Amino acid sequence: MNRTDGSVPKRVWAKIDVREQDECWPWKGSKRREGHGQLWVAGTTVAATRLLWVSIHGPVPRDRVVMHKCDNPPCMNPKHLQLGTNHDNVLDAQRKGRLKGRARRKLKAETRREIGRLRASGLTQREVAEQFGVNPRTVAVWTKRYRESSGQE
Ligand SMILES: [Zn+2]
Repeated sequence: MNRTDGSVPKRVWAKIDVREQDECWPWKGSKRREGHGQLWVAGTTVAATRLLWVSIHGPVPRDRVVMHKCDNPPCMNPKHLQLGTNHDNVLDAQRKGRLKGRARRKLKAETRREIGRLRASGLTQREVAEQFGVNPRTVAVWTKRYRESSGQE
């Protein structure tokens, strides 16, 4: 995954329907169920917004995610993207009432994986809990589940 493939930004831009400056620019490639664009890179699918962000601004810090200001999952207008914490993203989605049923469960699964990864990378339970605005006990439970399930990914 560390491979920096110079062709990736080109592949990303080839799939963006570029429109007027302030409009949303739809992703024309494959999408996740919630409508977020994704691209196959180095043997895995990566969020298209993340690839776009990296190609413009450089790496996304470990504890940040690329979010939409416009609340339009397939949008790829760089001006509509911003960095936030995963916790911001969850709060934002909840506030907008976007998450229902399956999507909510999926986001929870993603958050759980992210928590598991951060714990594995050496952050303490408390640090991770603060980052996500959850109880340290929740972090403990999710880390355990992550460890149990990480073989299945
Ligand atoms: Zn947009």
